[in-house]
Amino acid sequence: MTTEQSNLFYLATQPRPFLDHGEGIYLYDESGKRYIDGSSGAMVSNIGHSNPRVLAKMKAQMDKATFGYRLHFRTHPSEDLATKLAGLMPEGLDRIFFVSGGSEAVETAEKLARQYAVTQGQSSRWKVIARTPAYHGGTLGALALTGGKLFAGPFAPMFQDMPHVKAPTCYLDRDNLSDEDRGIKYAEMLRERIEAEGADTVLAFIMEPVGGASTGALVAPDSYYKRIREICDEYGVILIFDEVMTGAGRTGTFLACEHWGATPDIIAMSKGLGAGYAPLGAVAARREMVDALMEAGGFLHGFTYAGNPLACAAGLAVLEEMEEQNIVQNCAAMGEVLHARLKTLMDRYPFIGDVRGKGLLQAFELMSDRDTKDPLPKEMNAHSELVELAYARGLILYSRRTRGGVEGDHFLVCPPLIITETQIDEIMAILIDSLDAFAANHDL
Ligand code: PLP
Repeated sequence: MTTEQSNLFYLATQPRPFLDHGEGIYLYDESGKRYIDGSSGAMVSNIGHSNPRVLAKMKAQMDKATFGYRLHFRTHPSEDLATKLAGLMPEGLDRIFFVSGGSEAVETAEKLARQYAVTQGQSSRWKVIARTPAYHGGTLGALALTGGKLFAGPFAPMFQDMPHVKAPTCYLDRDNLSDEDRGIKYAEMLRERIEAEGADTVLAFIMEPVGGASTGALVAPDSYYKRIREICDEYGVILIFDEVMTGAGRTGTFLACEHWGATPDIIAMSKGLGAGYAPLGAVAARREMVDALMEAGGFLHGFTYAGNPLACAAGLAVLEEMEEQNIVQNCAAMGEVLHARLKTLMDRYPFIGDVRGKGLLQAFELMSDRDTKDPLPKEMNAHSELVELAYARGLILYSRRTRGGVEGDHFLVCPPLIITETQIDEIMAILIDSLDAFAANHDL
């Protein structure tokens, strides 16, 4: 579709058909063509499309009230969802603030950290150290954390840039360190940055526990998470986990931080929480931080739609469905199956250089040489070509060309968490067909 045919303007992309309906892991366009939602949209549709029980619960709420402003009424959906969510958070992080999306969640986390520091007499602390590459959202405050040329682009002069440390892109390293030592090496970069900035100016450190679109499902060595927590404690720096993509079961545990027991002080969530049924996000924080804010007069922050009853009813229904259908457990099991199947592609295609991920946040990366880790030439536009080859064959993938300072093409394979083994085989058949076509196009 050309822009003349639509009043909408988004980032220029390929022409796309109109969506008709969804069912489970599938989406159908208006011509009746079926697509496997191999990326759950943007890693959102965790429980699949058109879940009838979730729709029924949303409908029941719609029949009662779709909106009630939080300054005028308490609502059962928001109170019940907060209680349910608090029960799923790490010990002590039982204070919940609702928002409508990931960028809002990240900025809420930052503002909460800052206001808390001020209540503690630490007004000099305002810098939030982030990693590079990272993705924390598109609003100006979140962009300062996302950093990098790709997204900040022309907007860079409009926000205060924040300090960055290198994300643990260990798979690109050519040293002889053990995994354990590599994790420590990258974590220690945080200490160096804190000291360089001056610890009394550093408010927080924010990271995606498993990189999403930014690094292509990069998982750090276990030692990284433990050392990061220790360093934050040592310098009085608040640790924020951006679980916008990894939360709500995506990595095989409800929160990704559970894999390492490295409990952050604040968690930002969105995507899978509303699971595509409603725009919803949440921030969970340590009780004593929120208590301090409340004693000082309350959190100076809020959004009109925050905690609206319809979005919260949807979120509650999603969590109930996840629990009743053992969806997180299915994600853990199917994540292993998908990872193993993707690994077999490395035998067949020498240009697949790495397969990585946790749960159903899986990715593969293309390289021109596995030993040197050199990427395919940029002009090849592999990240977009392979996505189009798969799309034409009825498989939706999510791709990016970027990685820690060096450019490379990675592809996220992140189907809804309800997927079965047979459906994973369907994904693999289309993927192999698409990769064969890609290899033939380039004589690889
Ligand atoms: N944080 C992470 C880790 C994300 O992956 C995203 C979106 O992709 C965001 C924040 C921003 O979320 P939203 O696009 O809902 O504002």
